[in-house]
Amino acid sequence: MEKFTIDGIVIRTSVTGEADRIAWVLTRDRGIIRAFAKGARGTKSRLHGGTSLFAYCNFSFTEKNNAYNISEAQVKEVFFDLRKSMETLTLAQYFCEVIAKAIPEKCYEEVYLRLLLNSLHLLCKSDKHELLIKSVFELRLVSVAGYMPSVVACENCGEYLTDIMYFNCQTGELFCSSCGKQHLLPAVPSSVVSAMRHICFSDFSKIFSFELPEDMLLLLNRLTENYLRSALGQEFKLLSYLSEINKY
Ligand SMILES: [Zn+2]
Repeated sequence: MEKFTIDGIVIRTSVTGEADRIAWVLTRDRGIIRAFAKGARGTKSRLHGGTSLFAYCNFSFTEKNNAYNISEAQVKEVFFDLRKSMETLTLAQYFCEVIAKAIPEKCYEEVYLRLLLNSLHLLCKSDKHELLIKSVFELRLVSVAGYMPSVVACENCGEYLTDIMYFNCQTGELFCSSCGKQHLLPAVPSSVVSAMRHICFSDFSKIFSFELPEDMLLLLNRLTENYLRSALGQEFKLLSYLSEINKY
């Protein structure tokens, strides 16, 4: 039996037994661990809070024959303010669902945990627009997962920037105002192209540091969401729920 402790955040839970819980934990550098938490649904259990959705903890795991148990969960952050609105809560759940589907198998990079923690912190505390947080999360995530779009220059002629460019959400290719006209693609103003480049290429500490007016954020959000669905080849049921409950 192996014992180890590691930081991680609960991205999904399910119930089992009379009072037990199964938690999917995105760990710092061991990918996603699916673990059994005995008695964790009991309100007096010392594992109750630490194995709830969005709990960020220092976990103690035991592992035997690829089956994991949680023996301790020292809570560092519970992201309580995610519950401030149904939209915020659903967005946070969507981030967790995307993470679960996007991480390549046996991928032990820390960047996924950092991206999720930063996104959840901003949803809780900042006055940043939720669409900005969502677009950054989506585009940076697919980029680090191996699907970075080709947004450096026009795919056809190499032109760096024109007032209007065109983005193919299926292939991740960008075209200038001349080359893009022949394709039936969404027109993208240069400010949104610059935002996409910023999200893909800037230092991790700066990825959320830009501003766009709300109409441009709406466009950016449509592009990043469609590109993510296409790149991952997945549909996310929470997205249709989000578009039903929010005003966008
Ligand atoms: Zn061109």
